[in-house]
Amino acid sequence: MNVYKFGGASVKDAEGVKNLFQIINTRRENLIIVVSAMGKMTDALEVLCNAYFSKTGHTEEALQRIKDFHAAIIQNLFGSSNEEVMKRVETLYQELETILKSDPSLCYDYEYDRIICFGELLSTTIISAYLEKQGRKAKFIDIRKCLITDQNYRNAGVNLELSAQLCRKTFTFQDTFMYITQGFIAGTTTNQTTTLGREGSDYTAALLANLLDAEDVTIWKDVPGIMNADPKLYENTEIIPKLSYKEAIELSNCGAKVIHPKTIKPLQNKGIPLYVRSFLYPESHGSVIRELDEKLKLPPIYINKGDQLLLTLSPRDFSFIAEEKLSRIFATLAKYRLRLNLMQNSAITFSFCIDHNEAIFENFIQELHDEYEVLYNKNVRLLTIRHYNEEIIEQLTGHKNVLVEQRSRLTARFVVADN
Ligand code: ASP
Ligand code: MG
Repeated sequence: MNVYKFGGASVKDAEGVKNLFQIINTRRENLIIVVSAMGKMTDALEVLCNAYFSKTGHTEEALQRIKDFHAAIIQNLFGSSNEEVMKRVETLYQELETILKSDPSLCYDYEYDRIICFGELLSTTIISAYLEKQGRKAKFIDIRKCLITDQNYRNAGVNLELSAQLCRKTFTFQDTFMYITQGFIAGTTTNQTTTLGREGSDYTAALLANLLDAEDVTIWKDVPGIMNADPKLYENTEIIPKLSYKEAIELSNCGAKVIHPKTIKPLQNKGIPLYVRSFLYPESHGSVIRELDEKLKLPPIYINKGDQLLLTLSPRDFSFIAEEKLSRIFATLAKYRLRLNLMQNSAITFSFCIDHNEAIFENFIQELHDEYEVLYNKNVRLLTIRHYNEEIIEQLTGHKNVLVEQRSRLTARFVVADN
């Protein structure tokens, strides 16, 4: 059995859905298709959710945008014979509208998950109806019934044991050899919807592969494979045909967008290879991530993570930055759900880089302010170079204002300010 994952960009319009059909149409072996919300629909649903939660009264406009977007795709795919798909889509809209008419609870994260899930529910509903129309029926599964998580809304933790039992009962491949289901969303034992974190569909694909012992996973993307740098930012990038799990997890953790950081573990644990291929050129091989014995010689790989905030804390009473202080700083970061992208300390300073989030910035700084003098730089970039050499460092940082520098055997990292 194989798992195919199609992200939002691959199904951003009717052409994308037709292309998905072409890719799966030649398949004869057991397959699970995991799909994200179409195009930027998760962002559009975030706008809707925020309007609902803060009672701005703009929910109707936001919902209309979502309806119009899907209606255009349905029109292109089904023309006038759209009765069946419209019935299914209307049922989803009614469910969503029932939520929007009720008063929001006090928990934003809970409301977020129960609204945001409609992106994936709509995409899988439309795509499964299209596959059926084309004579390639894939059994529709509501993943919320078998991927079970805790109630940590927006970043839910998966109950692997229970999910394994339920998934094995659901994906039996007895009466079909093809299933279609949603990425990113999941459910609790009490039927609440949860999500696995933004861009979490890769993780869903990896989890299903792990729980069902798939042969491999393929992520279909708009890039030809794993590149040594983002081709949108740099010239002369190259494909890396083979990567170890360890290398891949380091890269995604440093901010490489090609795969979600949580994706690797479930695959590594069962030795399942992950293919990254282009949905635009499905005949080309792309890249594979798997267990590799040989010491591969890799070219310099660089990741440019923008919109970072660099903070430097110095205790006001001139005391050392020791364990106790660090643990309190970490607790504050955890409270705001902030992840450290880089850190460095000296006797009386602690510097770190986090994703900048304007919404919580003031409160976060305020909390540290009594104990520390806080200096910060907004809008800096974190540049990571794996397998570096002096030439590439010079080329990428030579003309930049470097604020922090860190090197280990394989990795050089720089916090740079655009000047
Ligand atoms: N649709 C979700 C998002 O945009 C999940 C995903 O695409 O992987 O974050
Ligand atoms: Mg997406």
